[in-house]
Amino acid sequence: MPDVFAERTQRSQQRLQATEADALVLFPSTNLFYVSGFEEHPAERHLLLFVPSQGDPVFVVPDMYGEQITEESWVPDVRTWSDGDDPLSLVNDVADEFDLRGGRILVDDTMWALFTQDLRRALPDATFGLASEVLEPLRMRKDGTEIEALRRAGEAADRASVEVRELGEEAIGMTETELAAEIESRLADAGGDEPAFGTIVGSGPNGAKPHHGHGDRKVGYGDPVVLDFGAYVGDYPGDQTRTVVFAGDPPDGYEQVHQAVLEAERAGVEAVQPGATAESVDRAAREVIESYGYGEEFIHRTGHGVGLDVHEGPYIVEGNELELEPGMVFSVEPGIYLPGEFGVRIEDLVVVTEDGCERLNDSPRTWQSL
Ligand code: ZN
Ligand code: ZN
Repeated sequence: MPDVFAERTQRSQQRLQATEADALVLFPSTNLFYVSGFEEHPAERHLLLFVPSQGDPVFVVPDMYGEQITEESWVPDVRTWSDGDDPLSLVNDVADEFDLRGGRILVDDTMWALFTQDLRRALPDATFGLASEVLEPLRMRKDGTEIEALRRAGEAADRASVEVRELGEEAIGMTETELAAEIESRLADAGGDEPAFGTIVGSGPNGAKPHHGHGDRKVGYGDPVVLDFGAYVGDYPGDQTRTVVFAGDPPDGYEQVHQAVLEAERAGVEAVQPGATAESVDRAAREVIESYGYGEEFIHRTGHGVGLDVHEGPYIVEGNELELEPGMVFSVEPGIYLPGEFGVRIEDLVVVTEDGCERLNDSPRTWQSL
């Protein structure tokens, strides 16, 4: 079994001890995958991994998963329950074995309330916190294999980006949804497994809504179009944004807004180095946009960490004094949004290196079609 998962479990146990917590309780999530190697979507049956601060972890899982988890995870202790049994009797056994009844338990951040309520009922004297307390600092620092996967996801996004921008005038008259399908099929051709999030194609005024998905508006001549997309390669996502005008003359003011965002993105990336704080990267990007007079129109943080989750720590935001370290991966994605007119966002992923950072994307950032 690949022991990267066992090693991560050990490191999380060291952190559990250091933070005086007694166990992690995980359910199907990226956290569960990170420590066990087993990947599954959440569902209604109790499927829990107990990672005590000392001793071997224990899976409590539905019968139907027993064999699969034994094969796919490194964890040898897999206890199964059948439909019709009470899974909480297994939970109670584990709680007794690891002396968790009065303990501090860190539950998966995305665990459904269905299961957290059960844990609270089963362990009324325990106190509860979130697993991210222990796992987020570990997950933020990527190892070489993770960075390699993120690099490949970045390359797939770059390839799709160039190909879609080469559509030029052909994109005029396509709906946002058609363009999104085009992007997704090119991501797949470039080695992407599946889209990492709902592809964003925000044309004209829709671009002023940062999380507009895509709809039936047709791309017209001169429309700025915000394209934000990425696909998983292996288990790691790409996430890139370009704002382009496929054909025709852009609206008044657009070129300057695009230039402001481009310079802000560059300033953000240039501020990335070990020891710099997350908020200093946000400030570097924001100051440029403010200097152009659009401070009020930059309505979100500058970036987010990227790993097994497309949005995870470190968050690049004012108030986050976390010092950047080699191996951290995050987006730098300033934007300017003019309601009713258009929006511009430019986004790339970077990995912090020993002496600065490496961009994981490098497709052209100009606004003209290619
Ligand atoms: Zn992003
Ligand atoms: Zn994005």
